[in-house]
Amino acid sequence: MKRILLYLMVVACCLNPAGCASAPQNTVTQFSTIDALLAGVYEGQTTCSRLLEYGDFGIGTFDSLDGEMILLDGKIYQVRADGKVYRPSADHTLPFACAVAFRKDLSLPVSTDTDFGGMERLVDRAAPNMNLFCALRIEGHFAYMKVRSVPAQRKPYPPLTEVTKNQPVFELERIKGTIVGFRAPQFAKAITVPGYHLHFLSEDFQAGGHVLDFSMTSGTVEVDLCNRFLLVLPGEESSFGSADLTRDRSAELEKAEK
Ligand SMILES: [Zn+2]
Repeated sequence: MKRILLYLMVVACCLNPAGCASAPQNTVTQFSTIDALLAGVYEGQTTCSRLLEYGDFGIGTFDSLDGEMILLDGKIYQVRADGKVYRPSADHTLPFACAVAFRKDLSLPVSTDTDFGGMERLVDRAAPNMNLFCALRIEGHFAYMKVRSVPAQRKPYPPLTEVTKNQPVFELERIKGTIVGFRAPQFAKAITVPGYHLHFLSEDFQAGGHVLDFSMTSGTVEVDLCNRFLLVLPGEESSFGSADLTRDRSAELEKAEK
């Protein structure tokens, strides 16, 4: 009887990829590089179901740059350019995404008005090793939340800075929800967004996007310190192989992400 119970527990665990023991701990897994995205490599390279093998928490974008991705509690959400939240199918593909099996190492309460800069200082004080990756789950009440999404593109794909010139921006007020994001070390630039990269999903799953600015009134910041980084590069079916990834794209990134 005990053996049957154990077997059922293992099966249940592996049916839910978010809870599957095979997802590596303290490991940020990333598909493609931020510079490839800046260069217009928007062909989806991994599926939603495959991404879930690497964690239950993360951010990214979809094939042809069709919106912002939020992976929260093992479920993937797509905020498209109309500002609405969709649930993509398991075989929907992503050109760029990060995932982690989120396990909190630190929990920081927020009880006074905290903006983006204040949040950065709070986390930097609590997690002062800036040479580590951190995953951040920030849940609570927001007096203000400014997010953007991106519209799907057609080939030949324009660079990301061209797309974000006309990005739809949404300003939300008095909203509950969760920020899903990462802090990456400066040395990781060209591979990922150095510093903070945050996406938002409202508690009612009706709004969200890539975070530009916010003011949080109360809630909790959970930090997962990650000392491992797994990078999965696109295959031959993508334009990754012919993208110019030799030059410094820091200035383009600043324009595209802020
Ligand atoms: Zn983003």
